[in-house]
Amino acid sequence: MSARSFIDTQDFARNHSEIRGELPVSGMERLSDLLADSQGGVRYALRGGSDKDGQLYLEVEISGICQLLCQRCLKAMAYPVTIANRLLLQVEDGLEQMEGDDQPDSIAPNRHLDVAALLEDEVLLSLPIAPRHAEGECVAVYRQADQGGERHPFAALGQLKVIK
Ligand SMILES: [Zn+2]
Repeated sequence: MSARSFIDTQDFARNHSEIRGELPVSGMERLSDLLADSQGGVRYALRGGSDKDGQLYLEVEISGICQLLCQRCLKAMAYPVTIANRLLLQVEDGLEQMEGDDQPDSIAPNRHLDVAALLEDEVLLSLPIAPRHAEGECVAVYRQADQGGERHPFAALGQLKVIK
C-alpha cells in the first residue's frame, strides 16, 4: 500500500474498509520540521465503520517513535507515539466545538481524503508542545556529570542516535 493513498471517507466507512501500512517520517514534511531527524516511520491502521446510530466514523491507530527536539538541551529525544482515535464523519458546527473536549473528534466527509495528511495531522496533534528530556537526562547534564575525562565529549550524542 502506497503511503500516498486517497479514500472516499463515506464509502470507506460504509464498507468497513481497512488499510494498514507504514509511513516514513521523511514523507511527512510538517512533522519533519519539528524533529531532530526524520529517520524511521510510524505504523498505522485506518478502519472504517458505523455505530449503532448509523454514524459513520474512521478509526485511526498510529504507533512509532519520533525524534523530537528537547527544548532544554536541543538534542534528540525519542518520543513514543501511540494514537488510537475515532473520528466521526460529520460536518462540525460551531456550537459543538464550543462545548469543549467532551465532544468526540470529527472530520468533514471527503471524497478524496489524503490518508497521509490525515495521519500526519493526528501525529502532530499528539505531540507535546514543549518536549523535554526527563530531569537529569539532558545531553548537557550527561557531559557535566562525566568527570572521568576518558570519553569523547560527544559520546552521549552517539548513544542518543542508537535509540530508535
Ligand atoms: Zn534535553
